[in-house]
Amino acid sequence: MQPLTESAIRASFVNCTKGEAKRLAVPKDLAERPWGDLDFLGWRDGSATERAYLVAESGAGLVGVALRVAPQTGRVRRSMCSFCLTTHTGDGVSLMTARKAGKDGRQGNSVGAYICTDLACSLYLRGKKNAGRRIDESITLAEKVERTLATVTAFLHKVVE
Ligand SMILES: [Zn+2]
Repeated sequence: MQPLTESAIRASFVNCTKGEAKRLAVPKDLAERPWGDLDFLGWRDGSATERAYLVAESGAGLVGVALRVAPQTGRVRRSMCSFCLTTHTGDGVSLMTARKAGKDGRQGNSVGAYICTDLACSLYLRGKKNAGRRIDESITLAEKVERTLATVTAFLHKVVE
């Protein structure tokens, strides 16, 4: 994806107030992010572990969503990320929920997905980060990226629709 600026990121959020978007923790190392290998930008708030954020190009433009990370149960288990289909053990995958945009969100409606806890799906897909195991697939990286982007876009649509 194209490198993003802090102001573009803050302006992209669809499911939090303008004040929240202004205050939320945007990564300090934007200049060093591996943009060429990223299909979307995702990060955790280092000082508030229950908060995560995802920003992606989605048809009409840049869409950012604030996510709430469900607490881990502590049980050792194996689970698969719904975005990149990487299988992790332990707490490598988390249930993350996004409050829906607008009136639906104010009424308490949200959309959830199981996502790599570090939101580094793009790097797992490209083998730049090792999760130990990925399912064997005969499709190309480009096809995996396309599928992941389609899943992310569908998730974002559910948040804004
Ligand atoms: Zn993932």
